[in-house]
Amino acid sequence: SRYFTISEYPEGLPERSLFQLETQELPELKEGEVRIRNQWLSVDPYMRGRMSGVKTYVEPFELNKPLQGGALGKIIESRHQTLKEGDRVVHMGGWRDVAQLSGDQVQPLPDIDVPPQAFLGVLGMPGMTAWVGLTLVAELKSSDTVLISAASGAVGSLAAQLASQKGCTVIGSAGSQEKREWLEAHGIKAIDHHQSADEIKKALKEAAPQGIDVYYENVGGPMLEAALDVMNDFGRIAVCGMISRYNEAAPSAGPANISAVLTKRLRMQGFIVYEWIKGHEQAFYQQVGPLVADGRIEYRETMEEGLERTPDAFLALFEGSNQGKMLVKLD
Ligand code: NDP
Repeated sequence: SRYFTISEYPEGLPERSLFQLETQELPELKEGEVRIRNQWLSVDPYMRGRMSGVKTYVEPFELNKPLQGGALGKIIESRHQTLKEGDRVVHMGGWRDVAQLSGDQVQPLPDIDVPPQAFLGVLGMPGMTAWVGLTLVAELKSSDTVLISAASGAVGSLAAQLASQKGCTVIGSAGSQEKREWLEAHGIKAIDHHQSADEIKKALKEAAPQGIDVYYENVGGPMLEAALDVMNDFGRIAVCGMISRYNEAAPSAGPANISAVLTKRLRMQGFIVYEWIKGHEQAFYQQVGPLVADGRIEYRETMEEGLERTPDAFLALFEGSNQGKMLVKLD
């Protein structure tokens, strides 16, 4: 098996040289285990948090051990009762070409007619994140005006389309002209986040003179400050991510107008997908699965090819060079 490791916890934006490709002979399968040839690897912004060496809601990556992450592959050997050679499964043994795991650590693919890698994106963890954040955390209503940051990404692009299809007025932020055109083509008013908080505020006031009821927060920084200024009383902010902060070597000051949470009686709630999706998986697949399968929800993928490119794919997330879900395709 070939796999990536890190030998130190980086400060700031990681350098490409942080990631070392190692080789290891896998031991024979134990009873209950399966060996999987990975076909698709997921890279996700949260992995940066696992490289910081401190426990958040998840343990940090162990130094000099295979990194972990979402992956999809085919079972090539099995000593498990029900999982058979040839079965396709999703699991957390990513950042490597061949994974060896206990059968209870892998999930067969749901029976929905989509390309398999969709189960790492729009019908996988990022899709569930969009859905729980909007429906369960923000308790979205069709009368809401919704702001979504990183709106053309894996999470944001599903959140934006779900909100739009519910009848909400949706404003999305994205960092490139191409991404904003894609949003506009889906009925979503698009704004550029590469501006000062004051400029973003102005753009938001033009796009939503009626104010914002729900902010689906993915980035933090000036976007959050601008959003706080245009939120309506009793608005809800579902804090999904703050990617603008993940590479900060030292914490920067928070929004100057944070007291708006009080004066506007806002509800601001952070959430982690795997806690909220429990017990709702079937509802998610039933609601979102058919929309994806018949094309009512559009999803995009950006892929790097070959295991060697996994760190490049990961680092691209912080440059915003991905459109939709960032993936690595293996041979
Ligand atoms: P995306 O596909 O959205 O990729 C990340 C995008 O973030 C980039 O394409 C870029 O888009 C934008 N971005 C990068 N750096 C900055 C910055 N400094 N300021 C503003 N935007 C930036 O990734 P995901 O959809 O996988 O994740 C989106 C968010 O959701 C992340 O914050 C992630 O941590 C969070 N998340 C949270 C989960 C939870 O359980 N709470 C689960 C999964 C994801 P652009 O071109 O627009 O700049």
